[in-house]
Amino acid sequence: MKCNWSYLFGILLMLSACQPKETTTASQPSPEPSSKKELQINNPIITDQFTADPAAMVYNDTVWLYTGHDEAETDFHFYKMKEWLVFSSTNMVDWETYPVPLSLDDFSWAKADAWASQTIERDGKFYWYVSVEHATVPGKAIGVAVADRPQGPYKDALGKALVTNDMTTATDIMWDDIDPSVYIDDDGQAYLFWGNTKCYYAKLKENMIELDGEIKVIEGLPHFTEAPWIHKKGDWYYLTYAYQFPEKTAYAMSKSIEGPWEYKGILNELAGNTNTNHQAIIEYKGVPYFIYHTGGIQPFGGSFRRSVCIDRLYYNPDQTLKRVVMTSEGIQK
Ligand code: CA
Repeated sequence: MKCNWSYLFGILLMLSACQPKETTTASQPSPEPSSKKELQINNPIITDQFTADPAAMVYNDTVWLYTGHDEAETDFHFYKMKEWLVFSSTNMVDWETYPVPLSLDDFSWAKADAWASQTIERDGKFYWYVSVEHATVPGKAIGVAVADRPQGPYKDALGKALVTNDMTTATDIMWDDIDPSVYIDDDGQAYLFWGNTKCYYAKLKENMIELDGEIKVIEGLPHFTEAPWIHKKGDWYYLTYAYQFPEKTAYAMSKSIEGPWEYKGILNELAGNTNTNHQAIIEYKGVPYFIYHTGGIQPFGGSFRRSVCIDRLYYNPDQTLKRVVMTSEGIQK
């Protein structure tokens, strides 16, 4: 269904513009110069379908965005997710849509819940790590699909799960094996991070479809809920994650990808109108971006009908991160 719902904040902006003018303006900021270019409302970035749990990568000077697809009807109050989506952009504003590149049907051993994911390139192949509900091993699981080009189509790379619930026992909840995030370190060693309530990580073999060694648990991440994401800037590694529930985004820093991680605080506040918060961080053409989701498409957006948004990410001089400012305008051309 093609939708043209306005973004809530856009509506609020328009409504506020209709309010009677104050007669006293001495304590108010100066109005914007009339000559200033009018900003477009660019968040959420995709408005004709619901997109969630963004992951992104830069490949060949193009940004590739991978998302889940919220398909819950407006009277259905939980996740209904059966496939993943891919988009690309060269300006962070205009996004090209592709045929559905990967769905639950591509994993014969999975039975439900096409949840959060991330894709990475290695040696000209693209590996897409996904969360699903396993058909025979009780609990969630992580699978990996592979393709020869970023937009796919992708196929199951293993024919079985890469991680099953019984492989991690730091908690006995059934959904601790979700939200895979993959990172290749400067020395070529690949790592998989994932988790819910416990943050796990393991090395990946060079083939990207087998774990290499034991699964470890990261300690010292206050209120870790889920959605780990690794990125690096200069000498620092950053582990951002969903914090508490409803979720904010928090982060920790380390000089080593294997830690120890030092907690640094909140990075993003509660995302508008959704109880989850799920981030991807990339740098494109020298500009850092924070990619997340909200429930901002109205009237039907919410925790189970989410939409991907993008705002700038800024670093402090000491390489800590400035609090993200979520905006309606998002990125401008
Ligand atoms: Ca487990």
